Amino acid sequence: MYTVSSLKAELNERGWRLTPQRETILQIFQNLPKGQHLSAEDLHILLQDEGEPISLSTIYRNLKLMSRMGILRELELAEGHKHYEINQPSPYHHHHLICVRCNKTIEFKNDSILKMGAKTAQKEGYHLLDCQLTIHAICPTCQRSLLPM
Ligand SMILES: [Zn+2]
Ligand SMILES: [Zn+2]
Repeated sequence: MYTVSSLKAELNERGWRLTPQRETILQIFQNLPKGQHLSAEDLHILLQDEGEPISLSTIYRNLKLMSRMGILRELELAEGHKHYEINQPSPYHHHHLICVRCNKTIEFKNDSILKMGAKTAQKEGYHLLDCQLTIHAICPTCQRSLLPM
């Protein structure tokens, strides 16, 4: 698990800064229940509830930047609607199976996907930040509700 201090040290090495705002955002993601993903709008409401309002445009900017830093993962779970979660290193690293009708999302682990990603990046001399597979499908409940047509 990333801690704020270990992350700060890592970011400093790479010349990035963990501003108090980004630290607050990181803490919210760290305290999320497993399997929960937040959109910028979700985060905006959470921050407001915690008495630390940050404007939506600042949130968008920070989420983008934190994804580029490799702290967060940007997920395309629903069409045109980005969600974010903390980017955990192995063994917490996971992928998503998502129902395109009700958005029910299941997280699953698969080491060979991560290994393939790492190998491919390495071969080309790239530094791997994340490797994610999103499977778009229709869940059993939605399949049943589609039947009587
Ligand atoms: Zn996830
Ligand atoms: Zn469904």
